[in-house]
Amino acid sequence: MKFMEDAITTYGEIIQDQVVKVDAIINHQVDVNLMQECANAILAHYKMKNITKVVTIESSGIAPALFCAQQLQVPMVFFKKSVPSTLTKQFYTSQVHSFTKNIDYQMCASSDYLKSDDRILLVDDFLANGEALMGAIDIIKQANATIEGIAVLIEKAFQGGHKRIEEAGYELFALASIKTMQNGKITFQSSSHEE
Ligand code: 5GP
Repeated sequence: MKFMEDAITTYGEIIQDQVVKVDAIINHQVDVNLMQECANAILAHYKMKNITKVVTIESSGIAPALFCAQQLQVPMVFFKKSVPSTLTKQFYTSQVHSFTKNIDYQMCASSDYLKSDDRILLVDDFLANGEALMGAIDIIKQANATIEGIAVLIEKAFQGGHKRIEEAGYELFALASIKTMQNGKITFQSSSHEE
């Protein structure tokens, strides 16, 4: 979507071959109007799905997920990246490899907030190799809940995540799809600038 591509073009900094920093709008400071616009686009895409919960992964998925949940008037649940001592009852876990931190972590969620009759919209900030989303899908499957849609603000199409999610049987909606990040320039997969 043009608005997302414009935001990445304006604020994105390529900091490694495969990593773009968008701390000014998503990962440190949050542009609330942009998050609202992202939520509008995600919900326009996944309309009429009778979503009962919006699920994300802490911490950068929380902002767009919250705007989606507020609009749908359903709870937002964020999966944690380590098991807190307060998680005393039954909980689900999945081992995930972090792309940016290059460490493995234990994603977890309490069984209190995921039920088998839940119809989930899964939202995250970035899709790279699909590790984080596959971990979240694993947890949602353990709860026997249904995934109605998966949305990311930014996917990097040159990495394997999109294919992995689709091969697992889910539709993925990316607001911006980065095709290349070379010589300080970011290009997009199917630029909506032409629309
Ligand atoms: P994946 O699990 O798909 O390999 O990577 C996705 C996760 O890693 C996202 O939740 C995000 O936190 C982080 N990530 C992956 N690529 C990037 C990137 O280029 N920039 C930033 N800021 N985070 C990224």
